[in-house]
Amino acid sequence: MARMKIKEILGRGRPVVSFEFFPPKTPEGLDALLQTIATLKPLAPSFVSMTYGAGGSTRAKTVELVSKIKHEIGIEAAAHLTCVGHSESELESILSELERRGIENVLALRGDPPKGEKQFTPAADGFRYASELVALIRRRFNFCVGVAGYPEKHVEARTAEEDLAHLKEKVQNGGDFVVTQLFFDNADYFKFVSRVRSSGVTVPVIAGIMPVTDVEQIKRFTLMCGAKIPPALLEKLEGASTKERVMEIGIEHATRQCTALLQGGAPGIHFYTLNKSQATREIFLRLRAAGVL
Ligand code: FAD
Repeated sequence: MARMKIKEILGRGRPVVSFEFFPPKTPEGLDALLQTIATLKPLAPSFVSMTYGAGGSTRAKTVELVSKIKHEIGIEAAAHLTCVGHSESELESILSELERRGIENVLALRGDPPKGEKQFTPAADGFRYASELVALIRRRFNFCVGVAGYPEKHVEARTAEEDLAHLKEKVQNGGDFVVTQLFFDNADYFKFVSRVRSSGVTVPVIAGIMPVTDVEQIKRFTLMCGAKIPPALLEKLEGASTKERVMEIGIEHATRQCTALLQGGAPGIHFYTLNKSQATREIFLRLRAAGVL
């Protein structure tokens, strides 16, 4: 398929919709993911992205899958890459492989500390911050680079101001666009974007949305990533008597969120799909039916 950088897609001025997937560990998981992608492809997403695992065998799968999605399935795709456990030269060789495979877009991340550890420890000859990975990419490669932003502050950052200064550094080093961590209250996104703009950062900030489909799971995720679930939403979710009702509450909330985000000027929505199609598809279709997309 044609080479397309996400910044060019964003530059068209139409809302960008992207779907995030993770590389499955098992053959059954892979079948399920391919089914999910087949279900979502007719929605014509602007791009999809494939996360990079904390370690182990799924890491190579990120490169393979992103290549398959772009060249065989025919959807523009971005590869996530993290600094965890890699020296600079290993990162360079992964980037060279992505380049060789014709991948145009990379989401450059630091990665989380391993389970049980509070602090991130850089690999030998590796990087401490995503900004260094961004700088490497800019120095040696020609990828369009996305970076992560945190409307409710990154969990390790002491203050929102410091976190914003570090986001600015990522953009100054070559970040072309920002994708946010998931959030449930749009006020957090709009306040964040306004602070980002006041700091002089002008690149697009795509809103990260995770449709709630499981209450315990979303409580776990938000605990880890520092996002808050608004009390009224949590109460509704906890009061739901069936899984189907939880899913409907999640879909309604995300549809309302996406509508107000796009109407309020967000350049796009990045759906954290967890490799499932049902909720994301339903939200997308409701947005389209309402003329928001
Ligand atoms: P950084 O930008 O390096 O920031 C990490 C922390 O360091 C922040 O607190 C920041 O304020 C601070 N900091 C940055 N620079 C400096 C400095 N110069 N001095 C002092 N402090 C500094 N994780 C994965 O493992 N795989 C994935 O595929 C993945 N995809 C993601 C996609 C998105 C859209 C998002 C939002 C997150 C993703 N993550 C992924 C999670 C991410 O790796 C974690 O949130 C991680 O803890 C931080 O990554 P970062 O790139 O934001 O790091």
